[in-house]
Amino acid sequence: MTCLKPESNSPAEPKPNDADFNPFEIMQPRQPDQIPADFKNGGRVKANSVVPEGVYRPNYNRLTPFMRSPDYVQMSTAAAITLGVMGGKMYRCSCTRCLNLLLTYPEGCRANCAYCGLARHREADRDYADRNFIRVDWPAVPMDKVVDIVAADGKETPFHRMCISMITHPNSDDDTVTVLKKWTDRIAPETVPVSILSNPTTMQRANVAELHELGADIFTVALDAVTPEIFDRTRGSGVQSPHKWSKYWEILHDARDIFGHDKFGAHIIIGMGETEYDALSLVQQLTDLGGQSHMFCFFPEKGSLMDHLPATPRDQWRRVQLGRYLIHFCGQRIENMTFDEEGRVSDFGLPQAELDTVVDAGIAFRTSGCPGAFRDDVSACDRPYGDSPPSDIASYPFQPIKKDIKKIRRQLALPKSP
Ligand code: SF4
Repeated sequence: MTCLKPESNSPAEPKPNDADFNPFEIMQPRQPDQIPADFKNGGRVKANSVVPEGVYRPNYNRLTPFMRSPDYVQMSTAAAITLGVMGGKMYRCSCTRCLNLLLTYPEGCRANCAYCGLARHREADRDYADRNFIRVDWPAVPMDKVVDIVAADGKETPFHRMCISMITHPNSDDDTVTVLKKWTDRIAPETVPVSILSNPTTMQRANVAELHELGADIFTVALDAVTPEIFDRTRGSGVQSPHKWSKYWEILHDARDIFGHDKFGAHIIIGMGETEYDALSLVQQLTDLGGQSHMFCFFPEKGSLMDHLPATPRDQWRRVQLGRYLIHFCGQRIENMTFDEEGRVSDFGLPQAELDTVVDAGIAFRTSGCPGAFRDDVSACDRPYGDSPPSDIASYPFQPIKKDIKKIRRQLALPKSP
């Protein structure tokens, strides 16, 4: 039995629009549905008050249990498979290297970001713990069980990193501290270092400093939007959401001061209306500050306020992926690249042979994020199929092989030099 309404909107077909990039004009979020008063603030979950029993797998045909961090956390389907709390196989991946823990509350995230499956407006359709996010379900697991399993595995753990994902909720700052302490009490930072995916809106500099003192290794800010206009339209006043561009940059600068070089960074979603020049300018700015840039390819998340919009065309995405890799890992600068009148990269500013070497290595096209144990330019956070279906991969969660590179070259319209 369920009291949930069916989803009211279906995602757009992930096909390119007429251009080979997503222009600002078309990437307008839709308006949210009205939320019935008794559905607000986790009303259904609180009214039913179902006691959770161990691991909860999102299930729209039963009442969602009452689960709350720090006792419970959610994790991606890939992390749950790797941890061994659910079965399943992933296309061309045996596991994920990042255990991403998402704070959970019946009230959910109080922000309303237009591209996000966790956004507040979804109270109209789906309880928080049942919402899809970056294309997958997020099972909920008791935090003590998570720590027990990873601590028991010791150095044999498949995870190279743990990441606490904060959300916009009044308890999020305190509960992040508790989750971090539960982890570091039992698991050495050398074995599995911890990243914080922060929520600047509720944070002060002292919160950033406390997380550093407690042993967090890397601190990131989910800027997500490339420009202030896109930020405001997708996660600020444009969608009745509380976030402010200036506050995100304030906390990013605090993180730079406190965590230091290469230990802070920003998440950026490509294809929400910025130009390639805008995106790579931001990557250059972050690199010059000493920070990392972790990129996501826009995908119309089912149930989100942008579910009617096209996914980022692969040519735009590949150019930005390659440009970001060259700037961050190869010392290339945006001033040495050439852009056309639409802001698209027309020349990466490198001799063809050098460009060929980088493209053929394939690493530029893997998922970007905080590093794991293999090498600095290979992310632990591989997010299998978080920004695309396996049939048309955007971020490769594994090392691309020859046939993948061939496809990438086609998408880039970059034939190999003879
Ligand atoms: S703050 Fe984060 S989790 Fe909340 S709606 Fe925005 S992107 Fe989603």
